[in-house]
Amino acid sequence: MTGLPPIRYTIAPIRPASHLFEVTCTVSDPAPGGQVFRLPAWIPGSYMIREFARNIVTLRAECEGRAVAVDKLDKHTWRAAHVAPGRALTLVYDVYAWDLSVRAAHLDPTHGFFNGTSVFLAVEGHADRRCLVEILPPPATTFRGWKAATTLPRAVGEIGVAMPMGFGCYRADSYDELVDHPVEMGTFTHEVFEAAGVPHEIALTGRHDCDTRRLCADLARICAWQIELFGLPAPVDRYLFLTMLVGDGYGGLEHRASTALLASRNDLPYVGMSGLPDGYKAFLGLCSHEYFHTWNVKRIRPAAFTPYDLQNENYTRLLWAFEGFTSYYDDLALVRSGVIPIEDYLGLLGKTVSAVLRGSGRLKQSVAESSFDAWIKYYRQDENAPNSIVSYYAKGALIALALDLQLRAASAGSASLDDVMRLLWQRHGRTGVGVEEDGLFALVEEVGERGGKGAGRRLARWLAKVVHGTDDLPLARLLKPFGVACDVEAASKGPTLGVKLAPNSGEAKLASVYDDGPAQAAGLSAGDVLVAMDGLKVTGSSLEAQLARRKAGDRVEIHAFRRDELMSCDVELAAAPADTVKLTLAAKPVAAALALRKSWLGG
Ligand SMILES: [Zn+2]
Repeated sequence: MTGLPPIRYTIAPIRPASHLFEVTCTVSDPAPGGQVFRLPAWIPGSYMIREFARNIVTLRAECEGRAVAVDKLDKHTWRAAHVAPGRALTLVYDVYAWDLSVRAAHLDPTHGFFNGTSVFLAVEGHADRRCLVEILPPPATTFRGWKAATTLPRAVGEIGVAMPMGFGCYRADSYDELVDHPVEMGTFTHEVFEAAGVPHEIALTGRHDCDTRRLCADLARICAWQIELFGLPAPVDRYLFLTMLVGDGYGGLEHRASTALLASRNDLPYVGMSGLPDGYKAFLGLCSHEYFHTWNVKRIRPAAFTPYDLQNENYTRLLWAFEGFTSYYDDLALVRSGVIPIEDYLGLLGKTVSAVLRGSGRLKQSVAESSFDAWIKYYRQDENAPNSIVSYYAKGALIALALDLQLRAASAGSASLDDVMRLLWQRHGRTGVGVEEDGLFALVEEVGERGGKGAGRRLARWLAKVVHGTDDLPLARLLKPFGVACDVEAASKGPTLGVKLAPNSGEAKLASVYDDGPAQAAGLSAGDVLVAMDGLKVTGSSLEAQLARRKAGDRVEIHAFRRDELMSCDVELAAAPADTVKLTLAAKPVAAALALRKSWLGG
């Protein structure tokens, strides 16, 4: 850190109805020869080039009240002309904010939300310079009762006047820190709870009838379990769940001391709700997932992200570990903290196994390749995705499961994936040393040696093979010693066309056509709209019932529209594949299995 004056920003929701934030950025000692500014092209945690600069509507520069010329150098880079030494340069720009996702910025008369990557220009040459940012409220005459929530640290004794309700002046030690604390403003519900002695907050934006006491109690158990897994002290001294509630939505993005979530309001618990509806379990799983990232990816990071290059794709083959292991632990934390019963956990795990089995892309792409190509494939899925992509989330979670089961079984429960996570935390998270592309194998070998001499090396070799290969994992065999039975059956009794229908379209429009299935063999393609089967009308909701009356090997005549041209074809129906996995507690497990299962799932 230097004694140089900080980079100063202000951000104001000046025109909520027009979705415009006004932002200023002031550099007290701009570079001689012209100061360069640039906006990130992507946001860490969401691996796709998004070109946030396209939302900058107007931009100008000034020095002591006088206009300074600005040149645009490329799609997200500007250079302000030279100003006399000792004079401050200020950029003033408007950002259009109408993206209701967790990745960008959104502003309307009901609330405002932004990620720093969408609104704060980086000052070239000063990535490590201190920043001060003043977060201003909307025009007071029209917007009463607005407050702001963020985990940015408060600036004390710096500029500005401390404003009530969360507005006012904040600080960051670097640009990276500045853009890693999203900000919500509006009239949200705000609740506080404690987990392992650390204050946690939740801010709920959007209309809701949430039973916040129940939600806070469940989150407290999940968060406390995760803090204990990695060991005290917790990596944060406060944590904030920013949650935007909508009719239908799902998403989350991790940050160093907070997360931004998008959820369906009907997934939240209401006062008097009994049991654990699937939607609520999914919401808790989402919260648990993003919270686990506080360690795994925000602090334990791939070397490829140390530091981030926010202008270009950052390639790593490790997302199966950072997203996959996080996906394994998100639901595992629910059962280990006692929030859901073991039977429910096995139900969730069975769905993940089925999801992986359903895509033939798993036979063509390894999770290492899927990680590397996330920028152009996983994040840009098209109709061919099931045939060409494996999810590094879902298969990564199954790899974590298979590793955990093998470590536990070989050591009679004394070693586990938890030990690997703790080693990652000690050697990489606490130290800030990035994880090299092959760094995980050595850690797995080290922990695996507790299962006997040579066991670690064998396990590390197995891991490298599954990470870089496309074999299915032997989960039924690995689960058996834990007293868990694995049954596989077809999703439906009737035969299949080998297609996926577009959801909610009413008509039987094909979203995807599976490789080597009956529809593909007969010449049908994604985008085709099926209109009749053997002369009877087909709709999105009738197709399954019409298929259920037939059997594998039957031939049916299909009429379909491709574009506006009617076509017909004969399709030979096939048996529905056995791709639905049910995991259940084995009827009479031996004592050793019970002990192993207890070490794994608690209870
Ligand atoms: Zn994630």
